[in-house]
Amino acid sequence: MKILVVNCGSSSIKFQLYSMPEKRVLAKGLAAKIGEEGSALEYHVGRNAYQVDRAIPDHGEGMKQILATLIGSEDAILDNLDEIGAVGHRVVHGGEEFTGSVEIGQAVLDSIERCSDLAPLHNPANLTGIRAAMRALPEVPHIACFDTAFHATIPKMGYLYALPYEVYKKYGVRRYGFHGTSHRYVAAQTAKLLGKAPEETNCITCHLGNGCSMAAVRNGLSVDTSMGLTPLEGLVMGTRSGDIDPAILFYLADKGYDMESLNKMCNKKSGLLGVSGISNDLRTLREKSDQGDSRAQLAIDIFCYRVKKYVGAYMAVLGRVDAICFTGGIGENSAEVRAAVCRGLEPLGAVLDPELNERRIGHEGDFGTKNSRVRLLVVPTDEEGVIATDTFDIVMQGKTYDGNQLLPVAD
Ligand code: ADP
Repeated sequence: MKILVVNCGSSSIKFQLYSMPEKRVLAKGLAAKIGEEGSALEYHVGRNAYQVDRAIPDHGEGMKQILATLIGSEDAILDNLDEIGAVGHRVVHGGEEFTGSVEIGQAVLDSIERCSDLAPLHNPANLTGIRAAMRALPEVPHIACFDTAFHATIPKMGYLYALPYEVYKKYGVRRYGFHGTSHRYVAAQTAKLLGKAPEETNCITCHLGNGCSMAAVRNGLSVDTSMGLTPLEGLVMGTRSGDIDPAILFYLADKGYDMESLNKMCNKKSGLLGVSGISNDLRTLREKSDQGDSRAQLAIDIFCYRVKKYVGAYMAVLGRVDAICFTGGIGENSAEVRAAVCRGLEPLGAVLDPELNERRIGHEGDFGTKNSRVRLLVVPTDEEGVIATDTFDIVMQGKTYDGNQLLPVAD
């Protein structure tokens, strides 16, 4: 069966076409700058890359162009759109309603819409993509996979903020966590690499990309994560501050900043970019630091220090840690960041092998010494693969959303 995986942003559609169950990628690509000047569709089939520079005024047109390339391009991968058996969609926020992936019907669309309040930048874009894909491929099942779902097992002690309780009851203010599909994949893959059952594996997963988050995984289940109500909490990121004293916002409001500018400051102008004043990209900061820019180095140092603090916290949460796992553009590729995070963890049982760490760039495996009690692993993430697998499983098992997937919410 061929499965199309779609990840829709406000002005983009990322897609991958899989052959299942072997999880082979047949084609992938990106429709970018939708509704803007310079919109274009780029796609890859095997080693061949193509670009179509044609106006893409909206997501509906983007989806049509993607499907057209799959059947009509010089490297057409399908004879017919009927070969696509299902579509899997990434959805950012599933609120408390979705604890797993589900087939999309009207009830699910309504629920995703309700969750838009919690993720106003992401869920509406996801919904636009889902609707466009459902219009273009009306005969096949469409499955939603939520970034929040893996974290549904975090206990109340871990997800509740110490604010007045009615803020949670009335507005749903609590920790939800994100990057769940990535943490779930990395935790499962870690169990495989360790030769253990997932239900017996404890690990700390570090997803370090432009957005960054960590999860404490006990017996294969998420028990804590660094992102919160929104993706702003936790680690230092490309442009997000991560944890700050919330009173800083009141203080700055008093100095004349309005809500919009504070929101923009924390989400778009902080993190690596804010501290360095140069870039949100780690590679650029490395170059600048090598040329003597001390703020570029400071930004990297603060970034690594925050990851290390969360490693310590999650070691305490888990007690026994079998592995610390790194993924995402930075986690997979930056030996420097991994070394800075792990420096000093030796008494806690995590001992890095410097040579192995330098070699372990972008591919799976250990970078700890043979004697390291806590295994140190690079696990390249595969969020699209998880979505394809969930979609395939749901379609093959005929599971449908029964409107009853609410988390047990104690009063
Ligand atoms: P996103 O969260 O947007 O998917 P990625 O996971 O691609 O982002 O991560 C982007 C980050 O990864 C950037 O800061 C980039 O500098 C960093 N990165 C990518 N490749 C490397 C590399 N080879 N060495 C160091 N950092 C890298």
